[in-house]
Amino acid sequence: MRPAVCQARSYLVGMEPVSDRIQVKRLPERGNYDRAAINEILDEALVCHVGIVTSDGYPMVIPTIHARQGNTLYIHGSAASRLLRSMRSGDEICVTVTLLDGLVVARSAVHNSMNYRSVVVLGSPRMVDDPDEKLAALEVVTDHVIPGRWAQSREVLEKEVKGTLVVALAIDEASAKVRTGPPVDDEADYSLPIWAGVVPLSMVAGDPIPDARNLEGIEAPVAVAAYER
Ligand SMILES: Cc1cc2nc3c(=O)[nH]c(=O)nc-3n(C[C@H](O)[C@H](O)[C@H](O)COP(=O)(O)OP(=O)(O)OC[C@H]3O[C@@H](n4cnc5c(N)ncnc54)[C@H](O)[C@@H]3O)c2cc1C
Repeated sequence: MRPAVCQARSYLVGMEPVSDRIQVKRLPERGNYDRAAINEILDEALVCHVGIVTSDGYPMVIPTIHARQGNTLYIHGSAASRLLRSMRSGDEICVTVTLLDGLVVARSAVHNSMNYRSVVVLGSPRMVDDPDEKLAALEVVTDHVIPGRWAQSREVLEKEVKGTLVVALAIDEASAKVRTGPPVDDEADYSLPIWAGVVPLSMVAGDPIPDARNLEGIEAPVAVAAYER
């Protein structure tokens, strides 16, 4: 069955949630609806999780790559992908991205937490059938992962484009939630002789490992050799 469509649909512009269902209710002070803040998190994350209700009626959440261009989030995959094919129905989906910034170590186990920046986007996906938009979206997804890689790669073949599905989701109904800072313990626990604090976490790229079949003398391009998140 098709989920209820939000009545308050409008273009996401400011600091207020555009609908009740996108409003952060648990710890609302951590909610953020600012487009720039949402875009920044979407752009930094390499991976999203897409939640769908399958045609058999059960829920499924699948991790995949995404990329943003303007107000549109693109997701791509094999034409054989059930996730991608299921989106042709236009039924609403939920896309989530999470950036993990730290482990919050509290004096009490129940106050342990994590520092994070996350985004939830709700909406009806649109299958990208226009060949020009499809190709442009594939470029955006490729360059989202390694900037400039599209131009450095061999040209994509028509049959490869045909064998790939691309889905677009307007970022109209979205929320960010952000936790920063130290643990928040019960007042009485601050006098306990227990260490508390934050273990920062970040994603770090290692040294590139050349493929064994690279031609002799081929060096890694700067975008790969000096890759950073
Ligand atoms: C790395 C990480 C670890 C977490 N660990 C826990 C945990 O152990 N226990 C726990 O209860 N919660 C945890 N959270 C918070 C969790 O994501 C939910 O925000 C929280 O559980 C409240 O859920 P709810 O359904 O009651 O939210 P509600 O506030 O009722 O959700 C309403 C709307 O707020 C928005 N929203 C809610 N959560 C988020 C979010 N994280 N990011 C963006 N938008 C959001 C959505 O649009 C949602 O539709 C964690 C979050 C992250 C990112």
